[in-house]
Amino acid sequence: MKIDQDFIPYIYDYNTHSLNNSAAVIYAIDSNYKIRFFNDAWEHFAETNNGCKIATEWGIGANVINAIEGAQKEFYRELYDASINENLIISHQYECSSSTRYRKFKLIGYPLVNQRGLLLENYLISEANIAYNEPPLIVDDYQDNYGIIKQCGHCRKIYNHRQHTWEWCPSLIDQITLKISHSLCTECLPLYSVGIRNCLLSPSSL
Ligand SMILES: [Zn+2]
Repeated sequence: MKIDQDFIPYIYDYNTHSLNNSAAVIYAIDSNYKIRFFNDAWEHFAETNNGCKIATEWGIGANVINAIEGAQKEFYRELYDASINENLIISHQYECSSSTRYRKFKLIGYPLVNQRGLLLENYLISEANIAYNEPPLIVDDYQDNYGIIKQCGHCRKIYNHRQHTWEWCPSLIDQITLKISHSLCTECLPLYSVGIRNCLLSPSSL
């Protein structure tokens, strides 16, 4: 685990050794969304899941909101702000699949003392191999005029500009040299457009 020493007073309610030994991917951010603590599971996840930008490009001091693109960026910023400022607990489910493994996580976020930030715990709640025989692809169908591929930030489907459809294309996900921009597909957009309020719980409701 790694912890910013200045931040220790704000997570003193939590046993950092228990957090570190948890199988859940756990990290803490301050009110400016900068990472101040992460556990070993976080490091392991980052090492083994290079498809998930959310885990691979963050270290102590990194801004988590900057790693999120498209419609999800504003969603998470609003969610974190509301949790910190209104002292509400976050409960939210999201996908973070690789090209071969479907994975669904539950995010639980606890506001820290004095509105200093959040402790974010990510529990793997569903996992399965993806059995899919991908047909041969014409990469041009998925790239726009600038060579950029649009990917859903939730389910990771890719937009086909020729067919105007969102498709599961694992071979494109694995080509890290491709230029990707993140958006939300038509199926996942409603999960985020409903807003943040369904993801916030009063501490007394637990
Ligand atoms: Zn999607």
